[in-house]
Amino acid sequence: MIIHMTKNAAPANVEAVFRRIKAKGFGYEVIHGTTGINVIGVLGDLSGVEESYFAELDSVEKVVRISKPYKRISRQYAEGAKLCEKETRRIRVGRAVIGGPDLVIMAGPCSLESAEQVAAITRYVSELGIPILRGGAYKPRASPYSFQGLGLRGLRMLDRARSRYGLRIVTEATGLHHHVNADGVPEKKNVLENVIEHSDIVQVGARNMKSYGFLQELAAATKRTRKPVLLKRGDSSTLEEFLLAAEYVVASGNPNVMLCLRGIRAFEETKFQRYTADIGAIPVLKRECNLPVIFDPSHATGYRDSVGAISLAAVAAGADGLLIETHNCPAEALCDGEQSVTRAQLARIKKEAEKIRRTVCRG
Ligand code: PEP
Ligand code: MN
Repeated sequence: MIIHMTKNAAPANVEAVFRRIKAKGFGYEVIHGTTGINVIGVLGDLSGVEESYFAELDSVEKVVRISKPYKRISRQYAEGAKLCEKETRRIRVGRAVIGGPDLVIMAGPCSLESAEQVAAITRYVSELGIPILRGGAYKPRASPYSFQGLGLRGLRMLDRARSRYGLRIVTEATGLHHHVNADGVPEKKNVLENVIEHSDIVQVGARNMKSYGFLQELAAATKRTRKPVLLKRGDSSTLEEFLLAAEYVVASGNPNVMLCLRGIRAFEETKFQRYTADIGAIPVLKRECNLPVIFDPSHATGYRDSVGAISLAAVAAGADGLLIETHNCPAEALCDGEQSVTRAQLARIKKEAEKIRRTVCRG
C-alpha cells in the first residue's frame, strides 16, 4: 500500500502512521518529496488490511493499494508512489546505462578458459565498442565431469580486461560454496564473495532463480553498494515466479536488478533449439515491472546461426539489452561453442540491433 501524506504534514502525524504500520508488523519505505515526507510505501502482506486503517489518520491524503504480488518492482508501485521512475529503472554500469534509450550489449565467452582466449575475445569485444564483457569463472554444469570453470584465476583475467580496456564485467555467482580449483584446493572466499569483488554486475543463473536464501544473501551483501544484479529466468519458471524472485532481491535491499530472459523448456528437441525463445515475455515484463529487460539469444536458441535473428526479434519486442556468447574459436570452446557467435557475426548483430533499438525508442 502507498500512503500519500498532505503537504507539510506535522511530524507527529507522520509518526502516528509509522506506529500503525509497525503495530501490524509491516515494514515501510519513505519517499521524501520537496515538502518533507510525501509518500510512505507499506511493505508486507496487506491483503487483510482495509485502506481506511491508514486513511482515517490525520494528514493522510490518500491510500493506494498495490494489488500485484511483486510489490516493489511493479509499475503500479512506481506510479502509485509517484516515483520519478515511472519509466524503466536506469542502471548505470561504467559508460553504459541499462534501461535508457541506448541498447546495451554484453558479450563474451560462456566460460573463461585461458589467458590467451580471454585476451583475444576481450580485444575484439572492446574494438566493437561493446561496453560490458561477460564470462563465467564458475560454471553451473549439468554433469560433474564437465569443465567447472577457472574460478578465481578466471576472475583475475577479467580484472585485466577491466583495467586494460575499461570494460565492465558481468559474471555468474553460483552459490555460497568454496570453489575447489584444478589442484584440489578450495578457494579462501566463497563464490559470491569473489564474484562481488571482481565484477560490476553479478549474474544469477537460471538454475539459481529459485534459490531464495541465496537471493537474500546476495541482496544483503550488495545492499550498501547496490551493485547491479542480472537475474536469469529459470528454464521452467512462470513469469510470476520470475518477477517474485526479482522482488526477493529488491525487498532484501538491492533495487538494481535487471531481468534476463534466456529461453524456456518446451517440447522442442535440442537438436533444433536448445530452449524456446520466450520473446513474448518481453512486453509482459515491461508492462508489469519497471526493471530493465535483457535477452540472452545464445542459451535461448543453442545455435549460432539462430542468434542473430532472435537478437533482432528481442530488441524489436523491447529488450533493453542483449547478453551474447562469443568465442574467438567456437569449435574449440570448452563450453557452449555451438551457440557462440564469431566476431563478424557479433559485429553485424550489434549494428542491426542498434538500428532497431533506435526505431523502437522513437516510437
Ligand atoms: C551462462 O550465462 O553461461 C549460463 C550458464 O546461463 P543460464 O543460467 O541461463 O543457463
Ligand atoms: Mn553458456
